[in-house]
Formats: sequence, C-alpha cells, structure tokens
Amino acid sequence: MDIRFLTMIISVFQMKQIELISFDAEGTVVTPDFSQAIWHEAIPALYAQKQGIDFAQAKRHIVEEYGRIGDQRLEWYDIEYWFSYLGLGSSELVIHSCLGKIAYYPEVTEVLSSLASEYKLIVASGTPLELLHLLLRDVKPYFVRIFSSVSHYRQLKSPDFYLSICEEMGVEPSQVTHVGDNWQFDFLNARQAGVNALYLDRSGRNHQEYLSDLTQLKHVLPPPI
Ligand SMILES: [Mg+2]
Repeated sequence: MDIRFLTMIISVFQMKQIELISFDAEGTVVTPDFSQAIWHEAIPALYAQKQGIDFAQAKRHIVEEYGRIGDQRLEWYDIEYWFSYLGLGSSELVIHSCLGKIAYYPEVTEVLSSLASEYKLIVASGTPLELLHLLLRDVKPYFVRIFSSVSHYRQLKSPDFYLSICEEMGVEPSQVTHVGDNWQFDFLNARQAGVNALYLDRSGRNHQEYLSDLTQLKHVLPPPI
C-alpha cells in the first residue's frame, strides 16, 4: 500500500468509529477450491455420467451454460437451480463429495481471532446459505451473523443488500467496513451504500492501493471504540 492510500483510508475512518467488519466469503476468507471442485469437476462428471458423454464434452457444455446465465443473475449462485436444470437429481451427494476441498487462506484464522476481540465481525456473501454454512464451518465462531444476499434477500450483493444488513445490525453504513475480492459486488456496491469498502486483490499485481491479504486490515482500521 502506498502512503496516499493510507492517508485516504485514515481520513475516511476518522469520520466515524468502525463498529462492524464485514467479510465476503469466497475468495476472501475461503479459497475457491471447494467451488472449483463442485462447479467445474463434480457437476460436469455427474452430467457426463447421466448423459453418457465424456467428461471434457460435458464440461464444455456446462461451462457454456454457466456463461449463458452469468454472475449478474441469481440463478448463477443457486445450486438447486443447476441440479434441476441439468437433470442431475439431488445435490446432496455431490456437495458431500467436495467437503474435503474446503480451505481457508493462511492468514484467516489469526486475523479473525485477533479482530473478533475488538470488533463485531459478520459475513456478507452472495453464496446461498446451504453452501455458505458448509464453507464457513471452521471459522463460524468468529462471526456474530452470516448474511447471504441470495438466501436472505433474493438479490445480488447490491447497495440495498448492504443497507439491509446495516439496518439489521443497527449500525450506520459509515460504521461498517466491508472487505471482499469482487470489484463490483464488494467494492463499488458497498461504497455506494456508504459503507467503507476495501478491495482485496490477492494477486497483488498492479494494485499497490488495494489490500493483498487480510493481515493488512489491521493497518488500515482505526482503534476500536
Ligand atoms: Mg468473493
């Protein structure tokens, strides 16, 4: 991070004390391994078996279908929609077969454990609750609430979603910091709601002004109330 960014962050945070830190889940706290295994391996493998075609062909078809819906529509996130649309039956066994892939980024436990003693922590994710609870199973105790935009509000992570969370938690948007790895859903939309949004770019490329991992949160947050 360069000094201009730090100065900007500090001036933003000085306006009001931060009470709540909100985290995106996938790509921020949880690695993409589980999602990769479900969406790009297990689902195409089951589809190949059901259709009697080879895996590569099934994967091509399914990736094309994912692209047709796209991440701006709710169906994209809804595993039950995909199982029904692709004629795959129940999702339970497939989800179960991928549980071993759930993993957290290396700094996550230490950062959450340290911040949880000073702030209220929540999750604000676009992942449906049935998957989100599984993804967060080892870090759940650090969070006071877990919000899924899709399951709780039937919407994407829009500015309204962030406003609803603030209302539910009884805080002003300016008392909330949200961190996440999606420029639109975590940064622009949270900022539009008046939340102090921090963009996480784990690639660390080209973006000196963004967080490259969660340990940097400690440096940009003001002392707690
Ligand atoms: Mg994410």
